[in-house]
Amino acid sequence: MIRTYSFAKLMFAGILAALAVYALPAVAPETHGIVVANMDPSIKPGDDFYRYANGDWIRRTEIPPDRPSVNVFSRLSDLSNQRTNDLLQEMVKSNAPAGSGTRKVADLYSSYMDEAAIEAKGLAPLRPHLEAIAAIKDKKELAHALGESLRSDVDALNNTNFHAANLFGMWVAPGFDDSEHYAAYLLQGGLQMPDREYYLADNEHMRDVRARYQTHIENMLKLAGFSDVEGRAHRILELEHAIAKVHRTLAENEDIHKANNPWMRTEFAAKAPGLDWDEYFGGAGLSHVASFIVWQPEAFQGEAALVESTNLDTWKDWLAFHLIEAYGGVLPQALSDERFAFAGKVLSGAQRQRPRWQLGVLLVNGLLGDVVGQVYAQKYFSPEAKAQAEAMVANLIAAFRRRIEALTWMNPATKAEAEAKLATLYVGIGYPEAWHDYSNFEVKADDAFGNMWRGNLAAYQRQVARLGKQVDRHEWSMTPQTVNAVNLPLQNALNFPAAVLQPPFYDPQAPAAVNYGAIGSIMGHEISHTFDTEGSTFDSKGRLRNWWTPEDLKHFQAATAQLAAQYDAYKPFPDLSLNGRQTLAENIADVAGISAAYDGYRASLSGKAAPEQDGFSGDQQFFIAFGQNWASKAREQALRQQVLTDPHSPGEYRAATVRNIDLWYEAFKVQAGQKLYLAPEERVRIW
Ligand SMILES: [Zn+2]
Repeated sequence: MIRTYSFAKLMFAGILAALAVYALPAVAPETHGIVVANMDPSIKPGDDFYRYANGDWIRRTEIPPDRPSVNVFSRLSDLSNQRTNDLLQEMVKSNAPAGSGTRKVADLYSSYMDEAAIEAKGLAPLRPHLEAIAAIKDKKELAHALGESLRSDVDALNNTNFHAANLFGMWVAPGFDDSEHYAAYLLQGGLQMPDREYYLADNEHMRDVRARYQTHIENMLKLAGFSDVEGRAHRILELEHAIAKVHRTLAENEDIHKANNPWMRTEFAAKAPGLDWDEYFGGAGLSHVASFIVWQPEAFQGEAALVESTNLDTWKDWLAFHLIEAYGGVLPQALSDERFAFAGKVLSGAQRQRPRWQLGVLLVNGLLGDVVGQVYAQKYFSPEAKAQAEAMVANLIAAFRRRIEALTWMNPATKAEAEAKLATLYVGIGYPEAWHDYSNFEVKADDAFGNMWRGNLAAYQRQVARLGKQVDRHEWSMTPQTVNAVNLPLQNALNFPAAVLQPPFYDPQAPAAVNYGAIGSIMGHEISHTFDTEGSTFDSKGRLRNWWTPEDLKHFQAATAQLAAQYDAYKPFPDLSLNGRQTLAENIADVAGISAAYDGYRASLSGKAAPEQDGFSGDQQFFIAFGQNWASKAREQALRQQVLTDPHSPGEYRAATVRNIDLWYEAFKVQAGQKLYLAPEERVRIW
């Protein structure tokens, strides 16, 4: 589902990566290795490693007015989007046969770019949908309409997106207990703002956001022709506030052990009374599905009860507002501007809307991503680059295997299962082996609204069609043009898209120390997700099964609790700390990733000394390259949103995790008393 604050992540923060696409002060292309010009040598590495590695870049970089933030990922996304746009232009010119993938891409993109046609249609495309909502005459019909709005818009474990604006969200993935077949996971939803904290947090910043949100609801309803907009907006906000109260927090959402709740379809009425579930599943086209996995049972109970206790008109207003909000981008300028004024300015801090073509690229990537991705991969990812990256991942996996063998605290039985996971891990490099089929998506020229509507619906129906079918462990969850990387725990698989395998993360001409510190630590990060707080709950076949001995689990939990406490202590704002539990899996992956990458780097030298460059030793280059992965600048609103809604810590604190690595202390002669210094027993060692 294409949304304003869409998340796409795993290696990296969602909102920042997804919304950030702009030309930036780039790394000089002739540089192969760490970028010395980005550093601030006046800062002691032991006091603030992040600013030592990136201080000058931070000083001279401005966040562009249409961005919430800038960082290495967004810079590469700019490049990828520019290339994708070039491909789109060619596809538009090619006049491909009707029904072909190329023609669909061309028509989707052109319909979105034709702002005059969108303006001329006015609210006409929206009207039949609003009339359908207005015609709802009782709670039974409401339940049906709520079911009809269900989309495949969440992803609990791969792209970790827990936000559904519809009443609930669906994710289709291998089952927790039967990882050979696809199952339907249902997740809490119903909030337009990014997370329950936006409704419940009692601080000045959030009170201000809520006041602006109410005004925004009023404005959107007014633009769509509603009367009594103050009253309606007030009731919609009250309803969402009540929904927020029954939602789980993000940290709770990430606890897999609380998520495996299989409910038979016939049990919903008794387990979560208040919503007519037969009507709901009928509307969703799921009446044939026997069972679901309910991620947050108490939220389903609470939300179903709210359907009963809240009056029908409020729910109809809520449905109408959510519809207008979701499709504001393909409605006349006044609506898309108002939507940006809240979702862009207030929630992310961006000052102006991005150029239309960039939003067009995001739309095509979201609805027909593999059609463009296939051409992208052919053009921008050579067989040599693929072979080299595959060799690097193989080195990293070997390094990880040696680390597991050497662990003194882990019992042989646990080690054997960990090794089995590594042995069966599927690693996808660059692009998938098979491409997604979009044949059920009808694209029409000059119908931007209809195309987005049908695209979201077709994506949902493709997911429904998979339910019960055999799992394809080699299937990808990212397109080749995505600047990110992902671990798919239920498939025991990794994806490294082509667009992330390029400088500054990966440069065949850079020293090994730098490539291992940059992309190597990302590869190690993804591999280690296989064994983190989430990954360690799945066995080599992707089943949810405890394969740890009790003593090993105890050791793991003690070490990870120490890491959670370390991150709890970081305070980006006086009134807002990081949440060490919410970011734990990612923080573990960072410590483990850099450790494995270091081993892979040493192994790649085959006993030879690493060459110095710019006066830095090989080890220093390795750590600086890691630190430079995390160069970022974010507006206050964007950074606050990340802290509240993202499982990843902000870049500054990810870079600081070098304080857990003994060799970093040696490389930079870090002394007790310096700000990042940890005594050896305080350093978190997990793998
Ligand atoms: Zn991760």
